[in-house]
Amino acid sequence: MLANLISKQLHLLYDWGLGFYGWINGHLGTIYPLNPLVLRIRITKNCNFHCSFCFQSESLNPKEKNHLELAEWKKIIDRLPRRTILDVTGGEPFIAKNFIPLMTYFLEKGHKASVTTNGSIYNEELLNLFVDKKLYYLMFSVEDVGIAHDEARSAPKSYEKILKNLSAIQEIKKKKKSKYPLIGIKTTITDSNWRNLIKLHDECVRIGGIDHHSLALLKQNPIRGGNEIYESELHPVFNAGNSAYYESSSKQLASQVIGLIEHSKKTKLPISFKPNIPLGDLEKYFANPGSFGVRACHKVNGIITMYYDGALAPCDIGIDIGNVRDYDFNLRLAWKAQKFKRYQKKLQQSFPYPKVCEGCCLATHTLKA
Ligand code: SF4
Ligand code: SF4
Repeated sequence: MLANLISKQLHLLYDWGLGFYGWINGHLGTIYPLNPLVLRIRITKNCNFHCSFCFQSESLNPKEKNHLELAEWKKIIDRLPRRTILDVTGGEPFIAKNFIPLMTYFLEKGHKASVTTNGSIYNEELLNLFVDKKLYYLMFSVEDVGIAHDEARSAPKSYEKILKNLSAIQEIKKKKKSKYPLIGIKTTITDSNWRNLIKLHDECVRIGGIDHHSLALLKQNPIRGGNEIYESELHPVFNAGNSAYYESSSKQLASQVIGLIEHSKKTKLPISFKPNIPLGDLEKYFANPGSFGVRACHKVNGIITMYYDGALAPCDIGIDIGNVRDYDFNLRLAWKAQKFKRYQKKLQQSFPYPKVCEGCCLATHTLKA
């Protein structure tokens, strides 16, 4: 119960803090913009899996080029204050170029950082690094239990590999008497796995040492989440919105999730779901995800996404706001760029319920008026 409460409070604090920071920065932006509070790093677009539900499936595994060199990464990180949180994701980060030296540098600079992985690659050096340098949060994407997980990933033995990784990192944490990294399990709720959510949650409890179970509602908005980056916000994809849909009964889906939330009060393994939706509206989300959106949000001035080649995007929306190389590796300057300002203005004018925000895991979604 207490763990649930603390986790909920931390989540609210992060949510509120990022919104407030964005609001302040939105006002300072033209004079002296602050650095981003959150830097999402899409460290690679490559992935060793091809999950059917992947919202990046169209853009995975390109021929990556123009990678930032190590020296360039260092310049970027050196210009950031320690308060900037690094959210490292992919593709699959464990196969990113220079992943170990990069993580070493990020963590030695004292940043709070999180890494999200599909857990299929075992790398003892990396796991030791995460513990030694106090990575804050390591998130494994787990879709189901055992063979059902392997089928969801179309990858035999992938569940076994996650278990191996989990057991190894917990062993290292125990040996080194470290609380970090905190371990999270992320599950995307699909038509295939919703009946097994409680079973999966109980399996997480049985495995032990897991700090948080996070559920992702299905979302499919092509302008979001590391797909293409577009030059102009006039492109039709900006009005595509969230086209995800569930075939299963929305009533049963909602009752399963609400049942799981109740169940987690007994297991004491905290649970959350994203995008955040008022519980009473969950059934409506499952019936039609595209009927939900974001009423208001200031976080566009608090978070930047940077790709492996230095390309920058606001929040996690695929609009080109330049390359970090154009800004002398100083992310603050991106807020001042004309491209960003033009986009920021257009976004602000589009509230309530801009299409680009549909499916964003950083903001509460409500039924569109
Ligand atoms: S592991 Fe993640 S990034 Fe890779 S295909 Fe599956 S959902 Fe997409
Ligand atoms: S995409 Fe929209 S909802 Fe998400 S953080 Fe940015 S402004 Fe907020």
